[in-house]
Amino acid sequence: MERREKLYEGKAKIIYATDDPGKTILYFKDDATAFNGAKKGTILDKGVINNKVSARLFKLLAENGIESHFIEQLSEREMLARRVEIFPVEVVVRNRIAGSLAKRMGREEGPELPMTIVEYYYKDDDLNDPMINRDHVLAFNLATAEQIDEVRETALKVNEVLKNYMFERDVLLVDFKLEFGDCGGRILLADEICPDTCRLWDRQTLEKLDKDRFRRELGGVEEAYLEICRRVCGEI
Ligand code: UDP
Repeated sequence: MERREKLYEGKAKIIYATDDPGKTILYFKDDATAFNGAKKGTILDKGVINNKVSARLFKLLAENGIESHFIEQLSEREMLARRVEIFPVEVVVRNRIAGSLAKRMGREEGPELPMTIVEYYYKDDDLNDPMINRDHVLAFNLATAEQIDEVRETALKVNEVLKNYMFERDVLLVDFKLEFGDCGGRILLADEICPDTCRLWDRQTLEKLDKDRFRRELGGVEEAYLEICRRVCGEI
């Protein structure tokens, strides 16, 4: 597989074309941003860890019948993936109260929710990714009814698989963000699933093992990412 021109550079990844028009190479960087780019930094070897953790989790999901854009891990920082047209909707799944939900509802972080919450955000940096609902998705033609319903169903399935897998590794899956794309009419889970995009707490101590350590300047960022990599990719 030959790496060709750069198609897109995001905050954490660079997307390259390949000699196959149906495939892309994702290159994982160490750059870290928070609060829509207002806080910038680097997390040493984050790209290596996020690539490895994402590859493991996409494989796990495939083993459980959930297809994604993932084809194979090519190198420490490169992943081969199917080329998709990303929907401009970020899907957040929540099992516990944390982050923007805690703020919006005026609650402390931590408690388990009596039911899983699925939220949609309109992907637009200039607007700060505002929260939207299913009606907005349809009224603004961001996806069709069939597509958004399939996205929601898949997101809930992903949650069940990941929550159980993490729990067996002494990790609580608090919440996470998914992105989906169109691949020739087929909806595919895309992007990455890693400590940048998930809140992951130690099951015993509730210690944060994710990007909140960077966002909130808690220290021990690299150590937390490594610990997640060890638990997710290593033996139980
Ligand atoms: N998230 C993400 N990218 C975003 C916004 C959120 O990956 O642009 C993830 C975040 O890591 C967390 C979940 O989605 O696991 C819910 O985030 P929340 O809405 O609480 O926003 P935050 O507090 O991260 O701003």
